[in-house]
Amino acid sequence: MNKKIIVILLFFFLFVYLWFSFAKVNFCAKNSEIKIYMYHHIDTWSVDKTWSNRYFISPSEFDQHMQYIKSLVLKKIIYVASLSELEKFQIKWCFPNAKIAIFTVDDGWKDAYKFLYPIIQKYWIKFDYSIISKTLNNTWSNNPYLTKQEIKEMMKSWLVEIQSHSVNHYKFEDCDIDQVQYEVCESKKILEETFDIKINSFIYPYWHFIKDDFRFLKRCWYYYWASTTWKPMNKKILEKNRYQIFRIEVDPGVNYKKLFSF
Ligand SMILES: [Zn+2]
Repeated sequence: MNKKIIVILLFFFLFVYLWFSFAKVNFCAKNSEIKIYMYHHIDTWSVDKTWSNRYFISPSEFDQHMQYIKSLVLKKIIYVASLSELEKFQIKWCFPNAKIAIFTVDDGWKDAYKFLYPIIQKYWIKFDYSIISKTLNNTWSNNPYLTKQEIKEMMKSWLVEIQSHSVNHYKFEDCDIDQVQYEVCESKKILEETFDIKINSFIYPYWHFIKDDFRFLKRCWYYYWASTTWKPMNKKILEKNRYQIFRIEVDPGVNYKKLFSF
């Protein structure tokens, strides 16, 4: 009888050991590829809009993008993460066993609430919104930016996280060093106080790096610094330099099946 119990216990421990080993292999991928995509406007472009049409993806085209992403998620080919999730994966050094896609939308335009948000709710896709902190105080009658209330509402869905995109969206190459420090550090402080959250990333306005950037990032406790240019990225590259993570611009009419392949 005792021997029988010992054999059962041995099998039980063997099963537990194998189960944990298997689960670990499945969840902690060795070298996940990571792609961060950058959108600006989800809206139909027209001549009265001042920006180049390059920054406008129509809602129907965006719907196709997200529908395709959802199909890849269901097939477990990709995992859609937010930047704060990526930080958690990196700290634990445990990444999902799938290619990681992160979606960002820049500047906090109103259409990110009006058109983008309903579509990501439909397909349940996470997005990081980069917010210019000064725009939160706009009281214009025709405010083109998101309001605090709209951002709060979207954040409650758990689909939307926000990141810092500076205070004023200046070109840093035109600013002195004190202004750059203010833009980088103050924007984080304003967003954290306004929304009672932790901001983990700074999304660079325009595409210019300046030599003292890293000093400010460390001082203001940002975990990531995201650019607007693209180079291949995986978790090894991320480990070496999380202060220059790369993004891919999504242009209208793009071959999205090719764009979202890894
Ligand atoms: Zn911007």
